[in-house]
Amino acid sequence: MIGCTKCPLHLTRTKAVPGEGPSDAAVMVVGEAPGANEDREGRPFVGAAGQNLQALLSRAGLRREDVFITNVVKCRPPGNRRPTRVESVTCHPYLRRQIELMEPRVIVLLGDTALKEIFPEGTLGEMHGRPARRSERTYYPTYHPASMIYNASLKAVLEGDFEGLGRLLQTLPG
Ligand code: URA
Repeated sequence: MIGCTKCPLHLTRTKAVPGEGPSDAAVMVVGEAPGANEDREGRPFVGAAGQNLQALLSRAGLRREDVFITNVVKCRPPGNRRPTRVESVTCHPYLRRQIELMEPRVIVLLGDTALKEIFPEGTLGEMHGRPARRSERTYYPTYHPASMIYNASLKAVLEGDFEGLGRLLQTLPG
């Protein structure tokens, strides 16, 4: 996927960002799309949102190295705009394949773009902080860690959701 030319984002990207982490991770984390730092380094969540993510993961008893981290769209949309529907539909087979190959026990959906990718009819207000099943897989929607940079009241919500994720992991069969 690092040489992908299936959508126009390849024209403006520096590096594609497929994701990183152990391929046998119990938890996969799915964000929206790479930002400027990620585009430069070819790694997901290396900027401020990455620091927030790391702190949140620790609330669930997880380290960054324990989880597989990826995004709905693997290349940076210019100016960090939201990916278009065409871009996320074009990129979807990569995420689907990652899920099929790794078979994580839980797939954490960070923010509305990731939620809509799996639950087009869902809203974060209703679905955050609770496991949800689709196609025999377990998803766990929550807000995007970048949102607490702009909306301080979401910090406590995100922290609560990740503590709930930790409890969920203890109840799931190995
Ligand atoms: N935000 C995302 O959604 N993904 C990244 O990789 C970085 C920031």
